[in-house]
Amino acid sequence: MAKIKPQKRLGQNFLIDDAIANAIVREADVKGRDVLEIGPGTGALTFKLADVAKRLVAVELDRRLYNRLKERMEQRENVVLVWGNIMNVNLDDFFEGQFAVVANLPYYITTPIIMRLMEFRAKIDKVVVMVQKEVGRRIVAVPGSKDYGALSIAVQYNAIPELVLEVPRECFKPQPAVDSVVVRMRMREKPLVDVNEENFFKVVRAAFSSRRKTLLNALYGNIAGDKNVLRKVIVECGIDPGARAETLSLYQFACLSNKLEQLLF
Ligand code: SAM
Repeated sequence: MAKIKPQKRLGQNFLIDDAIANAIVREADVKGRDVLEIGPGTGALTFKLADVAKRLVAVELDRRLYNRLKERMEQRENVVLVWGNIMNVNLDDFFEGQFAVVANLPYYITTPIIMRLMEFRAKIDKVVVMVQKEVGRRIVAVPGSKDYGALSIAVQYNAIPELVLEVPRECFKPQPAVDSVVVRMRMREKPLVDVNEENFFKVVRAAFSSRRKTLLNALYGNIAGDKNVLRKVIVECGIDPGARAETLSLYQFACLSNKLEQLLF
């Protein structure tokens, strides 16, 4: 078989450590389940997932890899290979009920993919993905830590995340510049806080828009033009107006969003 040259721009760092692939599939725990794999690539996880899943849908963007895998998967009746971009594929076309997501994610597009999966909260019950270590830290970060930000909040609003495996860069070919981790996100039945979602994330984005600014100054101009009203709302939520966004819990962001909604949105 001719070798396929990996494309860096598509985040093609293939997993070459069989023990890690086994560990990911074990941690995913998808026996008898419907599963979505994003970017099956050369199939390091795909064959193992197909062995245990009830049905596996694998979406690959690179036509060369898709074709190669299609040939090798021909005998697998429980596998549907899709040539496409995960950001555009309509997952409702492929799954009737709930499904789990397992992937070694392409690094150039990790955050947009995770955000998209969060939007499918109602149909997904867990997401088990390999990401860059730094992204994994941001996903599980708690308020007050340097990694805490809009990604932590978006994930924790929808899911309960945990780091399950550390994966050194030597486990990939070509070798990336950084180490990786596997993160498991169990989707919540309903979001952690009761908010108008659009407004909540507007407040979160504004609060983190400038990390050097105090909360009051970050929200001022972005969310409201009246500083006194803003200060009052912030204090009513039990927050110091001089605090910075990265110290606020989801509950405090929810309080801000709910109070500001009545006043401003
Ligand atoms: N699963 C394989 C493994 O573990 O070795 C490959 C993982 S590699 C990090 C990421 C894979 O995602 C590549 O096969 C790449 O072609 C594919 N990919 C990149 N962007 C994609 C996209 N937008 N939609 C679907 N697949 C994508």
